[in-house]
Amino acid sequence: GKYVYNFHEGGRDMAGLLGGKGANLAEMARMGLPVPPGFTVTTEACRVFLATGEPPPELERQVSEHLAVMERAAGRRLGQVDAPLLVSVRSGARFSMPGMMETILDIGLNDLSVLGLAKALGRERFAWDSYRRLVQMFGSTVMGVDSARFESVLAGIKKQHHADDDTQLDTCDLIRLVQMYQDLILEETGEAFPQDPAEQLRRATLAVFTSWNGERARIYRRREHIADDLGTAVNIQAMVFGNLGPDSGSGVAFTRDPATGQPGIYGDYLPNAQGEDVVAGIRDTVPLQELEHLDPASFARLRDCMAQLEAHYRDLCDIEFTIERATLWMLQTRVGKRTSQAAFAIAGQLVDEGLITPQEGLARVDGEGLARLMFPRFDSSGTREVLARGIPASPGAAVGAVVFDSAEAVRRSAEGEKVVLVRQETTPDDLPGMIAAEAVLTSRGGKTSHAAVVARGMGKVCVCGAGELTVDPQGRSFSTPSVTVREGDVVSVDGSEGLVFLGAVPLVDSPVMRYFEDGGHPPGESATQVVRDVHRVMGQADEARRMEVRANADTPEDAARARRFGAQGIGLCRTEHMFLGDRRSLVEAMILAHDDEEREAALNALLPLQRADFIGILEAMDGLPVTIRLLDPPLHEFLPDLTELSVRVARDEALGRQPDLHETELLAAVTRMHEANPMLGLRGVRLGLVVPGLVAMQVRAVAEAVVARKRAGGDPQAEIMVPLVDAVEEFRLVRAEVARVLERVSAGTGVALGCPVGTMIELPRAALTAGSIAEDAEFFSLGTNDLTQTTWGFSRDDVEAAFFSAYLDKGIFQTSPFETIDREGVGRLVEIAVAEGRATRPGLNIGVCGEHGGDPQSVHFFHDTGLDYVSCSPFRVPVARLEAGRAAL
Ligand code: PEP
Ligand code: MG
Repeated sequence: GKYVYNFHEGGRDMAGLLGGKGANLAEMARMGLPVPPGFTVTTEACRVFLATGEPPPELERQVSEHLAVMERAAGRRLGQVDAPLLVSVRSGARFSMPGMMETILDIGLNDLSVLGLAKALGRERFAWDSYRRLVQMFGSTVMGVDSARFESVLAGIKKQHHADDDTQLDTCDLIRLVQMYQDLILEETGEAFPQDPAEQLRRATLAVFTSWNGERARIYRRREHIADDLGTAVNIQAMVFGNLGPDSGSGVAFTRDPATGQPGIYGDYLPNAQGEDVVAGIRDTVPLQELEHLDPASFARLRDCMAQLEAHYRDLCDIEFTIERATLWMLQTRVGKRTSQAAFAIAGQLVDEGLITPQEGLARVDGEGLARLMFPRFDSSGTREVLARGIPASPGAAVGAVVFDSAEAVRRSAEGEKVVLVRQETTPDDLPGMIAAEAVLTSRGGKTSHAAVVARGMGKVCVCGAGELTVDPQGRSFSTPSVTVREGDVVSVDGSEGLVFLGAVPLVDSPVMRYFEDGGHPPGESATQVVRDVHRVMGQADEARRMEVRANADTPEDAARARRFGAQGIGLCRTEHMFLGDRRSLVEAMILAHDDEEREAALNALLPLQRADFIGILEAMDGLPVTIRLLDPPLHEFLPDLTELSVRVARDEALGRQPDLHETELLAAVTRMHEANPMLGLRGVRLGLVVPGLVAMQVRAVAEAVVARKRAGGDPQAEIMVPLVDAVEEFRLVRAEVARVLERVSAGTGVALGCPVGTMIELPRAALTAGSIAEDAEFFSLGTNDLTQTTWGFSRDDVEAAFFSAYLDKGIFQTSPFETIDREGVGRLVEIAVAEGRATRPGLNIGVCGEHGGDPQSVHFFHDTGLDYVSCSPFRVPVARLEAGRAAL
């Protein structure tokens, strides 16, 4: 196989094989942009290595062939004694995993070539400093020496010289340091630091492969839902140096502002530094515009490259570049991460600029981003004490207790506390803490620092570079000139404005939420930009989508909100929610009734209450379908808890009190009805079949509500749905009763009802026998919550807390199947139900009302499967509309 690609052989559509970085380097090389020569070792080679522990046998030969090509292009050889070529060895997976895997720089230096480099560049100290960095990096990442050992050797030398900074060490110190590092490696590993550059290269490559399975990388993948079996590519590229003096430097650039989407030149520049120093946020950068004064020619060249890239990729690009002695080199580009707000803004701008079509614009935003824009923001009307100002690196509002290290963040958040992680700057080791925290706050670093990039990727609030803060992790506090804040104190972080406040600042709705709450009407003159951007995209989504979107709602208020949010009906009205509260005693009376008379009395008392509920909902959804589901949950849910009740009765007995007749009776009933697996017990259609009068009462309430609405001039569209059907016989029996009641009400009132009667498909047996169920059922609604529970055999109520984190760790699935539909298993049953249902009854209306109806990935699956609608909670309706539109592209 071919495991190595020269940059000129690849392209941006090859990210699966070359990784994102490799594919984009190849694309830039192809476009003729100034890219240092290099080649990419494929993810396929990595997968072979991870599976077998050995690289593919052809790899070494292919690498040396490509190296030879690269050496010719560079005019220098690796390890060449007088003027060595140095290379970087960098990871680069299919999906960006910033800082999670290894990078090894300056490969090619050894005891001899270091002298050649010094001479060729005319910089002795620089050459030795590069060499000692290589020995240190190689010693720790490749040869496994604890990096703290190198740090303590370095600290020792610095102490001798009373130096507090590496830059105060001179060439002689660095030469000594290299020797001491090499001695340390020999002592620790029994092996000398390899002098052969080819061996350095080979081992560095394997170390990058190995880092795919490092702890940081695995945590990151789990958080980002990246599959564990993709592997990383390795990019081997001629080194260029941004730290050769004032006419050199490194920077990061964005073709538009990744926070707001505003067009322009955004970025950070660090004169006389390597790219690593910029990303690490260790020194403070200057705004990219400064480069125009520092080096106008390179600045002009960079702007030109940026314009070319944006026109070529037709999207916001982010770029890493280095200037080596006034020559610009492009080191990386990719379609840049951006905030949700920027995503909507940029999609609109690019459509206006004619770079992309409206359909492409729609593809550039997503439901999760929209959901983020609907979150609340801080109230700016009250008095707030501003603690610090920093760079608004990732928007949103978060409140939490301050913590100073990752472990503490994880510990407190596991106990349910909301925390804000405060660091001088973050490193990949802080990742678990960043995941656990509500917000990340740093005192150093710019928009492209590790903290900023990672937080933005996670959609986590971040303010970085808050320079007024002095962070003291040992003392577990930070201070500003006026206040000291200790661990556990509460702060509020505004990632949109870059502000930090003392205490918990109250939150207000987002303008996007207000827009939806107001009914999603065209925004007026005074509307904010983000609302205009969202409105425009929602219009495109509604135009594009084939599926309808309904809501799960069981109160008139929720129904009205869902309608304002754009719901086209109610896909699931759960009537059990109407049996709670003060109606509980009536339900209890119904269950405990001694005879038909008592039961009927209880049912008759419930009837007007139910009817009033339905009237309200049908009114809120006038003209749109409202699917009302008959009672579903286990009966004992309406009775007191067995243990509590037993304790009460036992206590009465112990105190010699006269036993309360009601309580004793209740205890007997609760005991009789107790189920070991209530989810698999007496619920749904089973209840309707064993409790006389229950179905009739509910249907009568629906029917009379329809009559009342019609008489009031409304257009009620009620549908009756039977839950938890396993067999067509169950459905037939209930349906016959439903039909009798509908007829009776219709005859009694003289009003035609026209209520379709359908079923939920939420058990595997129902899915598998959907063909016969469809003979009787007039519509299907997929209950993917129960279908997931019963297909996997996972209790909905227990397993997520019990063992899902272990399952996610082990890679059994990337997301909970209760969150995103499991296509192969549960999805297969869905496909069967759809195909067989429609084979029996062509045009059968089928929707989904499980939680998956509001999950973006699942919405795409339901579109592909040919469902007529998805139904989800009112707040997810806009998300589902957007995703249904995107699915139809
Ligand atoms: C389902 O099972 O997917 C469903 C919508 O019903 P419930 O969640 O009420 O069981
Ligand atoms: Mg269900």
